Amino acid sequence: MYDLTSPSVIRHLCDEFGFSFKKGFGQNFLTDADVLLSIAEAAGSEGVLEIGPGFGTLTAVLGNRAKKVVSIEIDRTLEPVLKTTLAGFDNIKIHFADVMKTDLEKLINEEFPGMSLSVAANLPYYVTSPILMKLLEEKLPFENIVVMVQKEVAERIVAKPGTKDYGALTLAVSYYADAEIITTVPAESFVPAPKVDSAVVSMKLLKEPPIDAPEKDYFRLVKASFAQRRKTMLNALSNAGFYGSKDDIKAVLESLGYDSNLRGETLSMKEFSEIAKRFTK
Ligand code: SAM
Repeated sequence: MYDLTSPSVIRHLCDEFGFSFKKGFGQNFLTDADVLLSIAEAAGSEGVLEIGPGFGTLTAVLGNRAKKVVSIEIDRTLEPVLKTTLAGFDNIKIHFADVMKTDLEKLINEEFPGMSLSVAANLPYYVTSPILMKLLEEKLPFENIVVMVQKEVAERIVAKPGTKDYGALTLAVSYYADAEIITTVPAESFVPAPKVDSAVVSMKLLKEPPIDAPEKDYFRLVKASFAQRRKTMLNALSNAGFYGSKDDIKAVLESLGYDSNLRGETLSMKEFSEIAKRFTK
């Protein structure tokens, strides 16, 4: 067994396999055993889909706890390393592909029939939001999505209305899941160390949408409201071009008790839902 949390073991593997870290793939490997364990614990003990195994650090911890782990990795040069570091695990499968181009529904049906399933990942930073939105929007049967992201992104995901971090990402994630930060992780806990700190976020998927506005109308309104953050809702929606004239928009907002200085960042998800429904009619 390799101690993949040891920087000297990582260096040794780099030398042995002639591997060099690819910044373009967001390769910063986690070396904190406690954090690895808390991600694995939150992911549960049945099926786990991992994104980006790297040297297999988290993969092995998941493999020790879960029934089956399937891990999607874009970088084929990691294949010989993973064959070595994960030798002996017959419940781990590595699928070499770009997760953004992977048909996840098909993969899940083939690999995890009848199993409860979670996602666990130390996500590559360059593509965090697109991966998150893919995992959430495709309505896949996940119980929990547990991911390491930049701390600043984690704060945006769990932000409260009226704060600087609150915005389209908060409102998108909270439409699909109950999110919480499990732990924060300093940059020095990675090899190589990134420039920023990170945090692990757990997103427990909701069985039903938490609001009753049609999904399409809700997301259209959220997008339009935050497209120009400093603008009032009145100006942002009128600039969007598809909510009618400024007077029409003003009338709708006033009928709901809002004045023309209203800004999106103060509104809760439920309030967005009420406004979206009014514009649908
Ligand atoms: N899981 C390892 C760990 O915790 O130490 C590595 C995490 S590292 C932050 C991100 C991993 O995702 C790298 O192995 C990288 O090659 C892989 N990756 C980057 N972009 C990807 C993509 N589009 N699809 C699948 N894997 C990707």
